[in-house]
Amino acid sequence: MNPNFLQTPIPYLKGVGPNRAETLRTELGIETYKDLLHLFPNRYLDRTQYYKIAQLQSSGADVQVIGKIVHIKTVEQKRGKRLVARFMDDTGEMELVWFRGHKWIRENLKLNETYVVFGRTNRYGSTFSMPHPEMELLTEHQRGLKIAMQPIYPSTEKLSAKGITNRVVSKMVQQLLLDSKGMFQESLSPTLLDDLRLISKSDALLNIHFPKSQDLLAKAQFRLKFEELFFVQLRLISKKIIRKHKIKGLPFDQVGDNFNSFFSNHLPFELTNAQKKVIKEIRNDLGSKAQMNRLLQGDVGSGKTIVALMTALLAIDNGYQACLMAPTEILANQHYNGLKELLGKMDIRIALLTGSTKKSERTLLHNQLENGNLKILVGTHAVLEDKVQFKNLGLAIIDEQHRFGVAQRSKLWHKNEIPPHVLVMTATPIPRTLAMSLYGDLDVSVIDELPPGRKPVKTVHRFDGNRLKVFQFIKDEIKKGRQVYIVYPLIKESEALDYKDLMDGYESIARDFPLPEYQISIVHGKMKPADKDYEMDRFVRGETHIMVATTVIEVGVNVPNASVMIIESAERFGLSQLHQLRGRVGRGAEQSYCILMTGNKLSEDAKTRLHTMTRTNDGFEIAEVDLKLRGPGDLMGTQQSGLLNLKIADIVKDNQVLQTARFHAIQLLKNDPGLEKPENLPIRTAYSVMSKGNDLWEYIS
Ligand code: ADP
Ligand code: MG
Repeated sequence: MNPNFLQTPIPYLKGVGPNRAETLRTELGIETYKDLLHLFPNRYLDRTQYYKIAQLQSSGADVQVIGKIVHIKTVEQKRGKRLVARFMDDTGEMELVWFRGHKWIRENLKLNETYVVFGRTNRYGSTFSMPHPEMELLTEHQRGLKIAMQPIYPSTEKLSAKGITNRVVSKMVQQLLLDSKGMFQESLSPTLLDDLRLISKSDALLNIHFPKSQDLLAKAQFRLKFEELFFVQLRLISKKIIRKHKIKGLPFDQVGDNFNSFFSNHLPFELTNAQKKVIKEIRNDLGSKAQMNRLLQGDVGSGKTIVALMTALLAIDNGYQACLMAPTEILANQHYNGLKELLGKMDIRIALLTGSTKKSERTLLHNQLENGNLKILVGTHAVLEDKVQFKNLGLAIIDEQHRFGVAQRSKLWHKNEIPPHVLVMTATPIPRTLAMSLYGDLDVSVIDELPPGRKPVKTVHRFDGNRLKVFQFIKDEIKKGRQVYIVYPLIKESEALDYKDLMDGYESIARDFPLPEYQISIVHGKMKPADKDYEMDRFVRGETHIMVATTVIEVGVNVPNASVMIIESAERFGLSQLHQLRGRVGRGAEQSYCILMTGNKLSEDAKTRLHTMTRTNDGFEIAEVDLKLRGPGDLMGTQQSGLLNLKIADIVKDNQVLQTARFHAIQLLKNDPGLEKPENLPIRTAYSVMSKGNDLWEYIS
C-alpha cells in the first residue's frame, strides 16, 4: 500500500463530493482517509443472535426474534391510529406496532407465517413492543445474504439532515476498505503480537468496521484499544526517562540552616509518618540532579501545606526562590497566611501576588523578586505574567493541579533556563488509573494518613421533609458552642435561579434562627469582595453561628470550630465537590457532621453519589466512584491536556488493558531503549508518524 494512502483527502473517495466532505469535516472532524478509518462504530446490530420473547429484558435493545403474527388490529387513539400485531413464539407474546403505512402492511403481512423481525424493543409493564420492525419471512431470511454485525457509526442531526445516514457512512468505509485492498501497515512488533495473541492491524481494522463474528469483534477491539493505550504509555514513559536522564535539574544538594532550624525549632506539631515519607521522597528527588516532577496527593486536611513549606525551605537553603501558585484568590490568600504563620519568627521574606494586589505593591514585589530578597512568592495566575521575573526560581509548587492547564504548568518552566523543580499538590485524589494515563510522566507521592486526633466526619442523608429535625440538631450544636455551614448550589447555567434559592433559603433560616439569639453570615458571588471578607471574617472570629453560602467556601476557609456542614440540594453537587465541602468541617477536636439535604426525586447517579458520601470518607475511593460516574474528561478537565483524546479505549472500563499496555511499554523501553532492533521498527515508525516526526528516541538512547 502506498504509505501516503491514508493521508488522502476525503473528497477523493468515491461517493464523497465536496458537499459531503464539508459536512464530514465540520460534523465529525474527518478530513482524510485515515480519519474515516478511525471513525469507529459506537455499537453494532447483532444479526447473528436470535432472541426468544421470554428472554427479552430491557427497553431500547435492538433484537431479532422469530415468530408468527396471530392477530392484527387497528387501535384508535387521540393522536391518530396505530396498527398493532400480536406476535408469538413458543415462549411468549409481544406486540409489533406501526404508526404509518397501515394499508400496505395490512395487505402484505401474512398471518401465521414465520417471520424474522428486527428492531428496538420498548417495555410497557410486562409486555414488549417493537415499533416499525424490519420484517422478513424466515424462508427469505435463510436464503438471503447476511451482514453478521451491522456497524452503527456516530452521527449528528446535521449529518442525517444532509443525507449522510448510517448506511451512507457504512458505504464510504466499505469503499475505503476496498480501495486499500484491506492492507494496513502493522504498527506493533511481532513479539507483541505473539505474546498478546493480537490480530494484525489489517484484520483489526476490517473487523472493527464489519465484524465477521462477535469473537473477531472482541479481538479487533482489544487489539485497537491496546495499541492506543500502548502508544500513550510509550510517550509518557519515554518523557519520564528523558526528564530523569536528560533534563538537568537544579542541584539541591544541601540541607541547610532554614530547613534544619525549622525542623528543630519551629515545627508546630510532630509530622505524621505519611508526611515524613513524602518529605523524604522529595529530598531524594531534589538531590538527584534530575528535575523533580512530583504529584503530591493528600486528602483535605492531610497536611500538605507544611510539606510544601519544607520543600520551599530546601530551595531557599540552596540559594533559590520558590513560588506557590493556587487556582483562586481565596486559596492563594489562605496559603499565604498559612505559610506565614508556620514561618513564624523565621527571617524569610514571603509575599502574595493576586489580581487585587495594588500597583505600588506590585512594583516593590517585582523588584524584590528580581534582586532575590523575596524568597517565597504565593499567588494566583498573576504569577505567570511576563512582568514577574525571578532572580532564580528553583521550585514551583502548584496547588490543585486540575484547574490549571498543562500549558500553564510549563509556562512556569520558562521563567528559567534550567527548569525549576515542580511539586503539584492536589486534594482531589486522582484515581490510580487516571494518574497513570494522565500523569504517567510524573512521580506520585501520597499522604494517606490524617494528623492524629481527627474524628472522621459523620455523614447522613436527609430528605427535605425532615428539615425541622435537622434545624433542631443545628440548634443543639450551636448551644454547645459550635458553628454551622449551610451551603447552596451555584451552577453557572442557572445562576439567577440559584441566587433565588439561596435568598429564599436565607430568609427561612433567618426566620427559624431569629436574632438576637442567632447571628447569621451570608456570602455569595454577587457581593462585593470587601463585604464578603467582612462576613467571612465575622464567622471566622466566631461572631456568627451560621454561615449561609454558595460554594465559594468550597476551597479556602478554615474554621476549626465549625462542626456542621449542611449541603442543600445535595443531589445537584458532584462527588468531588461534596467531598471538598465536607472537608470544611472535622478540622477541630469535636465530632463533626455533614448533612446532605435532598428532595425526594433522585436519579440513580445521585443516589450513588449520596450513598458513597455516607459510606466513606476516603477521598480515593470517592474519586474512583466519581470517575466511573462521570468519565475522565469531565472529572479532570482533561480535554485540554489532549492526552486523553482516545478514540476507542476508555481508561475506566479498559483499565485492565491499560495496565497491560503500560507493562509492555515499560518492558519495551527496558529491552530496546532506542527502539533500534529491527523487529521494533514498526513501533518506531508508527510512533514517529503519531508525534509528527518528532523522534524522541534520539534523546533516550
Ligand atoms: P491540606 O492538606 O488540606 O492543605 P493543611 O496543610 O491545611 O491540609 O493542614 C490541615 C490542618 O492540619 C492544619 O491546621 C495543620 O496545621 C494541621 N496539621 C498538619 N499536619 C499536622 C500534623 N502532623 N499534626 C497535627 N496537625 C497537623
Ligand atoms: Mg491546603
